[in-house]
Amino acid sequence: MNAEIICVGTELLLGDVVNTNASDIAQGLAHMGINVYHHEVVGDNPRRLRECLRDSLSRCDLVLLTGGLGPTYDDLTKETVAAHFGRGLAMDEESLHTIERYFARTGRKMTENNRKQAMMPEGCIILQNPNGTAPGCIIEGENGKTAVMMPGPPREMRPMFEGPVTDYLMRRAHDGMLVSRTINFFGVGESELEARLREMMVSSTNPTIAPYAKTSEVQLRVTARAATEEEGLRLIEPVVRKIVEIYPDQIYGFDFHTINEAVVKRYTDAGKTLAAAESCTGGLIASRLVDLPGASAMFGCGVVAYSNETKQKLLGVSAETLGRYGAVSRECALEMARGVRAASGADVAVSTTGLAGPDGGTDEKPVGLVYVAVVSDRFEEVRELHLARGRADDRENIRFRSSSHAFDLALR
Ligand code: ATP
Ligand code: MG
Repeated sequence: MNAEIICVGTELLLGDVVNTNASDIAQGLAHMGINVYHHEVVGDNPRRLRECLRDSLSRCDLVLLTGGLGPTYDDLTKETVAAHFGRGLAMDEESLHTIERYFARTGRKMTENNRKQAMMPEGCIILQNPNGTAPGCIIEGENGKTAVMMPGPPREMRPMFEGPVTDYLMRRAHDGMLVSRTINFFGVGESELEARLREMMVSSTNPTIAPYAKTSEVQLRVTARAATEEEGLRLIEPVVRKIVEIYPDQIYGFDFHTINEAVVKRYTDAGKTLAAAESCTGGLIASRLVDLPGASAMFGCGVVAYSNETKQKLLGVSAETLGRYGAVSRECALEMARGVRAASGADVAVSTTGLAGPDGGTDEKPVGLVYVAVVSDRFEEVRELHLARGRADDRENIRFRSSSHAFDLALR
């Protein structure tokens, strides 16, 4: 099965919005083993969309479109695509009710225009949109040609694509489904992973293995095509096991989005609490924990101790330590973590102290030098990090990666 992607929107054409939908869809299709030969962007113009669609469907069997499903006069995707397939639009009562419920729930006033969003191409498969007002839809033409229409906003498009659209395409293309598992790595780079696992990645076609780098961490997604979930898991398991054997120390979990999520889950499950004393991260550890629902079960205390005075007064860091080693030191990090643990009564405490720059570095203590500590009744550890990369976003990056290291230590 060959596919093309058409993203509709003048804002994309003008470069005001980056076309993340095309990249998300293309990655998803690659996972499904569906070939993509063209991406196109077209403005909110029915004539040019018509031409674009005609060309695409003359070359391939499947076109995925995003954008232009909204309530305004320039949202013309449904009308234009339906017309290409010789279909009209008709009011879909179920979609109308869903839209009405959405407005009731969000407390906004529904306008006559919003009713237009429930006008769907005749004979289409409707894709409900729990994250917005515009439903998506699939039109299957008599000649085996298919068009999938999804809303433009990524937070609405992505769940629709990953959910019902992926299920539909897997049934159509493979008589099956996609089953995947994410392996979460910390402390190993994407390029190193790729180099080490290249052989495996290239030779394995079912499951496929694909790396995905985020700030400060990497994930590998292992995805199998299978008739049932059990069969998929059977295909995935041996591959995952092999990778775990290669990286026993750098894998912090499975199926997490980010490392802070793993911390909240692991501590909550174990009934343990974590506290943080932060200097260079300035509250980022606390913020990344509190970002997640349920953090209150495991996180009760975060102290931002930016000045030496606060480190002494609030955390009990000794004047001797500060005088002898300075605030950016192994000793200070340890005393900060011990201090916040004692003050809060938490099971485990982490701390950060370092130079995020861009100013203030010396030869002996350059920008990017960070100490991250963890203290529990079981063990104490301090990690010395050199995080500067000489980039414009170093300050932000150093702070973020320091917080991730604190989470990694908290998981040890
Ligand atoms: P709405 O009901 O919000 O009008 P829609 O389906 O009509 O939804 P558009 O009006 O085309 O969608 O786009 C709405 C917004 O979604 C755009 O302003 C843009 O911010 C975002 N968006 C649209 N297409 C893309 C895309 N391909 N990649 C990333 N963002 C997009
Ligand atoms: Mg719109």
